[in-house]
Amino acid sequence: MKQTLKEYMLYQLEKLLAIPSPTGYTKEVCDYLAAQLTEMGFAPYSLHKGGVICALNEGENALMLAAHVDTLGAMVKTVKGNGALMVTPLGGLTAANVETETAWVITREGKKYEGTFQIENASTHVNREAGTAVRSFDSTLELLLDEKVYSKDDTRKLGIETGDFVAVNPRFTITDSGFIKSRFLDDKASAAVLLTLAKAVSEGLELNRKVYVMFTVYEEVGHGAAAGIPSDVKDMISVDMGCVGAGLNCKETQVSICSKDSAGPYNYDVVNDLVAAARNAGVDYAIDVYPFYGSDVDVTLKAGFDIRHGLIGPGVYASHGYERSHVEGLENTYNLLVEYLK
Ligand SMILES: [Zn+2]
Repeated sequence: MKQTLKEYMLYQLEKLLAIPSPTGYTKEVCDYLAAQLTEMGFAPYSLHKGGVICALNEGENALMLAAHVDTLGAMVKTVKGNGALMVTPLGGLTAANVETETAWVITREGKKYEGTFQIENASTHVNREAGTAVRSFDSTLELLLDEKVYSKDDTRKLGIETGDFVAVNPRFTITDSGFIKSRFLDDKASAAVLLTLAKAVSEGLELNRKVYVMFTVYEEVGHGAAAGIPSDVKDMISVDMGCVGAGLNCKETQVSICSKDSAGPYNYDVVNDLVAAARNAGVDYAIDVYPFYGSDVDVTLKAGFDIRHGLIGPGVYASHGYERSHVEGLENTYNLLVEYLK
């Protein structure tokens, strides 16, 4: 991978992570993606439900590459009597995982207020049970606003209401050793890879078939790629986080090729071709079975589209928490796609 493209990929990763996009609140990130693609000379278009599709070239035998740009998040459920907020999770956010994390409430008028997820009565010098209480969005965990609010009325006067979106701080960093730590690498890491592929095409990279990129929304709640697949698409590959964990082969430095997830096996020929491309190019990869995972392309098939399907992506550890991947995992994902499309 060219150094300039690698820098572009990491630049876009940081940019994408900095735009809050809890599932259901994704207009800003989609506008950003459409603007980037337009600047490269492409003609992206938006789906009515949200999300961006863009053809990278002309040709036959079209392939769709899809990454999702919605993330986990939360929504205000109750303004409490003490002025703090109870929230309901959007997607698989867990209370234990966001405790002590900063977050922003986004009001219907577009104002943002910072707060911190804390267990109620969080001072350990005051509450003996602070360390052992069950962590739950339904009871103990509250979003403590960094505003002088001490009652329900105080908070409502700020314009904060039930139904407001809550975006969690991604806390992005790259270590000197190349590890990328951030929330929402699922799936903004892959979105950065696809933007980089588009960039390479805009600079002259030739592909062996027609390729679309698609940035979906509502993936985290199960209907991301259920609509809008162009009629000429024959094959579709979800580019989404690869699982890393006990019993699996993949490391954060590798690209994961998924052979089966919760919806069953991926297309035999597509997986074979991906493995062959990885071997040809000397890409560091692992094949894995994902125990608890559903992908956008699973949803596309269930929606009735007649396509062959695959799933690849950079290895991501601690998924749906404070996630960790590696620059090499993104590079290997990019290099596999380039070889597959040669
Ligand atoms: Zn994902």
